[in-house]
Amino acid sequence: VLVHNHFQEFKVLENGKTIYLTYDDGPSQHTEKLLNVLAKYDVKVSFFVKSSSYLSIIERAYNEGHAVAVHTYSHDYKKIYSSEEAFFADMSAIRKLIAKYTPYVTPLFRFPGGSSNTISQLYNRGIMTRLAKSLTEMGYTYFDWNVDSDDAGRARTPEEVFNNITKGLQRCDDAVVLQHDTKEYSVDAVERVIVWALIRGYTFAPLTEDSPTCHHPINN
Ligand code: ZN
Repeated sequence: VLVHNHFQEFKVLENGKTIYLTYDDGPSQHTEKLLNVLAKYDVKVSFFVKSSSYLSIIERAYNEGHAVAVHTYSHDYKKIYSSEEAFFADMSAIRKLIAKYTPYVTPLFRFPGGSSNTISQLYNRGIMTRLAKSLTEMGYTYFDWNVDSDDAGRARTPEEVFNNITKGLQRCDDAVVLQHDTKEYSVDAVERVIVWALIRGYTFAPLTEDSPTCHHPINN
């Protein structure tokens, strides 16, 4: 791998580990900045998108080789986890929107809150167990993560996001990293993460149906 920075260009021996950066809940006003950083280092990632006034940027993401995958139309837990019917109506609405901007809608999916979320218990007992089963039977592949940037939790600065991600990367051979491109401080950590990883020989890749799914234990 050739690593470029402003000062030098050098060859690094690959360490055999792959990083799948993933971005949920976008696109947002920060997604363009993220795509520019990714293009600078030729790093491909995955976007689990929701309905957004910035959605047209997924056309660029797709054309630049990123995975554009399904998250949710509404991200309203109460609505989507109230019944299978409501869940699949929401999913079909976001798939239709994605299809306006990309020629192909992937079977890659991430549950709002992840498959281990417990909030769905409030609305429908057992729905996560049933949804995970039906989605798999229908040919979808759902992804959780094994490295959490915690950018939707306690992390509030690029420094904290960088520390959480790089700490997590050191304990995984194949890392599926959760970030949100709706958070500017998270997007602002990406260049440091990429440089940190490239000089250590990591490879970046977009998710495909054959990637590690990092499934969490289902709690409802
Ligand atoms: Zn989400």
